[in-house]
Amino acid sequence: MYQEIGIRKEIEELSNQAEQEIQPQFRKVEEVCAYNSMKVLKAFQDNHIADMHFGTTTGYGYGDIGREAIEKVFAQVLHAEDSLVRGQFISGTHALTVALFAFLRPGDTLLSISGKPYDTLDEVIGIVENSSSLKSYGVQFEQIELKEDDFDYEAITNRLQKSKVKVIEIQRSKGYSTRKSISLEKVKKVIECIRKVDTQVIIMIDNCYCEFVGKQEPLEVGADVIVGSLIKNLGGGIAPNGAYIAGRKDLIELAAQRLTVPGEGKEVGPTLGMNKPLLQGLFMAPSVVAASLKTAILASKMLEMLGYQTEPRATDERADIVQNIIFEDKQKLIRYCQGIQMGSPIDSQSIPEPWDMPGYTDQVIMAAGAFTQGSSIELSCDGPIRPPYIAYMQGGLTYEYGKLGVLKAVQELEKK
Ligand SMILES: *Cc1c(COP(=O)(O)O)cnc(C)c1O
Repeated sequence: MYQEIGIRKEIEELSNQAEQEIQPQFRKVEEVCAYNSMKVLKAFQDNHIADMHFGTTTGYGYGDIGREAIEKVFAQVLHAEDSLVRGQFISGTHALTVALFAFLRPGDTLLSISGKPYDTLDEVIGIVENSSSLKSYGVQFEQIELKEDDFDYEAITNRLQKSKVKVIEIQRSKGYSTRKSISLEKVKKVIECIRKVDTQVIIMIDNCYCEFVGKQEPLEVGADVIVGSLIKNLGGGIAPNGAYIAGRKDLIELAAQRLTVPGEGKEVGPTLGMNKPLLQGLFMAPSVVAASLKTAILASKMLEMLGYQTEPRATDERADIVQNIIFEDKQKLIRYCQGIQMGSPIDSQSIPEPWDMPGYTDQVIMAAGAFTQGSSIELSCDGPIRPPYIAYMQGGLTYEYGKLGVLKAVQELEKK
C-alpha cells in the first residue's frame, strides 16, 4: 500500500505487526477521546455557542462576545472559575511568564517542586542572568528535585514549614530532561501533601502537552491555576497561535491585568479573526490528542521491536504526548529526525541538521514540517546533540499521517 510514497515492504509489515499488538492501548486512547469530546461538546452547548461568536474585533477589542464565550468554554472544559485565552500570548512561555509576574511581588519566593523548570524559563526566572528577570525584581527562586520520578514529599513539607512560599510551580511534561512526565495521580497526591502544611500557597501547573491525555485536568485535583500553549494540545492543530491561563478567578484577574493594562484586564484585546479557529481547534483537540497518542504508541512499539530503548514504553500509562527514543548514537538521532521531516506535508524536501540554537548549551536538531510555525501538536521531533542522544517526538494531526511520518523515520533509521 505504501510503496508509492517510498516506504519499503519490510517497514510496512513491521508496522502492521506492531499495530496488532497495541490495539488494547488504542482502545484506551479512544475511550478517553470519547469522554473528552463529550466534555467539549457539552461546554459548547451550555454556553450557547452560535455563529455570532465567530465575529471579531479590532483596535482595543471592547465587547468581543466571541472572546468572552471562548473563555467561558475553556473554563468549563478545564473546571476553572475563569480563563484567559488570548492570541496576545505569543507562546506557552509567554503565558507562564505573565502568570509568574502577575502572582509574584518583590521579596516573594517561587518554588519549583519538579526540578529545574523548562529551559525557556531560565532567563524569566533569572537562573540565567537577564536584566528583566523575576530575580531582577527581587523575587527569589528555589527548586526541589524529583526523587525516583516522584515528588520529594518530605523535602517539600520541610521547606513549606520553614518559611513562606508564594507560588509553587509543577511542570508535568519532561521538557528536555531525562525524567518521566508526571501523572495526575502524583499531582493530586502532592497537592494533598502541600495543603496539609500550607493552605495559602498558589499552586501553578505548567500543563503543556498534558491536556486531554486523561479524563481529568489538574484543577480537578486541587491546583489553583494551569497554563498551556494553543500550538500544542488544546489548539487542536487549528489555532494559529496563543496560549491560555485557567483557574481561580482572582488569579485570572491578576494575570489579565498583567497581560493587558492594570484597570483594563480582560475587557480589552482584539481577536483579529481568531475566534472561529480557537473554537474549532478546541472542538478538534480531543481527537487530535488521541491521534498524537496513537502515533507515539506506534513509534514506541516499532522501535522496541527493533531493539531500541523507549520512554514511555508502548504499554505504559501516559501523562503527555511526548515520546522519547533513547538512541545512544548521534547519527541515529539525526537520521530519525530527518526521516520525520521527509514524512511531513510541508518542507518535506528540507533536511534538518543540528545547529546552535539560542538559549541551549548543546546543539539541537529539530524536525517539523508544520502548517503553523513551531507547532508541536503537528508531528515533530527534536533532540539535543548530547549523550544519550534522545529524540523527543510528539504530535500528529491524524493517526494516518502520524503513522506515515513514523514509517519514514524508522526507514531512514534502519538505512544501511
Ligand atoms: C512547550 C512547553 C512550554 C512552552 O513552550 P513555548 O514553546 O513557549 O510555547 C513550557 N513548558 C513545557 C513543559 C513545554 O513543553
